[in-house]
Amino acid sequence: MRHSEPATALDDGRWQCHVCQWHCTLAAGEHGRCLVRVGAEDGVIALHDGLISGAVVGPIEDYRLWHLMPGAQMLALGGWGYAFPTDQQRGPYATIPDDPAKQRKLPAEKAASFALAQLCRGVVWNFGDPSVSHEYVLELFQYARSSSRVTALVTTGYETIAALDQLGHYLDAICLDLRAFEDAAYARLSGVAQWRGILELAAHAKQRWGCHVEVLTRLHPGVNDTADQIHGMASWIHDTLGAQTAWHILPGDAGAAATQSAARAKRVGHELGLKFIYGADPQQSTNCPACGNTIIERSGQARVVGLNDGGCSRCGQNIELRTSIFKRGG
Ligand code: SF4
Repeated sequence: MRHSEPATALDDGRWQCHVCQWHCTLAAGEHGRCLVRVGAEDGVIALHDGLISGAVVGPIEDYRLWHLMPGAQMLALGGWGYAFPTDQQRGPYATIPDDPAKQRKLPAEKAASFALAQLCRGVVWNFGDPSVSHEYVLELFQYARSSSRVTALVTTGYETIAALDQLGHYLDAICLDLRAFEDAAYARLSGVAQWRGILELAAHAKQRWGCHVEVLTRLHPGVNDTADQIHGMASWIHDTLGAQTAWHILPGDAGAAATQSAARAKRVGHELGLKFIYGADPQQSTNCPACGNTIIERSGQARVVGLNDGGCSRCGQNIELRTSIFKRGG
């Protein structure tokens, strides 16, 4: 089994794992907070390495990446384990199945080859939290990039900067699951109180590695939909990631209150200058923020219909879409 990398040996014989922002310190036999790594004499062992929880081929839009290669087919994969305690309680991929027959093994090289054979434009890590599956994700993305596939994460953003820096050259995009913008709300929705490292991680991905970043927020009335939090999220996206960053705002609960919160957040985001805010409807088009021309149609398979040389085909407004495998920076 593979060992955590990055990790450091401590003077007392324990090891500290630096894969995610918990930085667990583990004696031999002690499990990390993710439940899928365990301390050993010679490091921290990734128990879930090489095991996948799901694999499916589908459109990139399913992963709320709407400004990256619109209409592209992707191989979506995922592993076991979550960084967040709430996800471990609620999510379907928290623990590795005991039954060996249900432990699906898929070497990263084979997964990348499968994506190529299926004519997928890329791979996206979607099931489970990539923050705790770092080594497999790194290997997968190295293979995928070597065959000119694009790579993306749907992530809590709880990776460490050190882990991200290992991925950086091979990582094209992230969809950041931004849960709240205040300590108590983040703690309630994720189980972590120290959440601001998530913002640093996303900013670093964009600024240091030229990653395409989109943001997804599910609004839960009375928890993360206060005026201060909505203002904070929209301002941070605008000021740090840029006015053309796509923000996907979905109702977190069934019912009218969550729908109203989402509509209010959309209004605030537009007032603060965000150009692309999407709701739950999967068929929303992308329109030029200057003249309203349709840039991407999403009735059926997404199609770019209004782009010319990186700008709106009607008025020339620059539109920050990523339509090739080449990064802008990083
Ligand atoms: S991946 Fe995160 S939670 Fe798991 S052992 Fe490492 S630091 Fe701890």
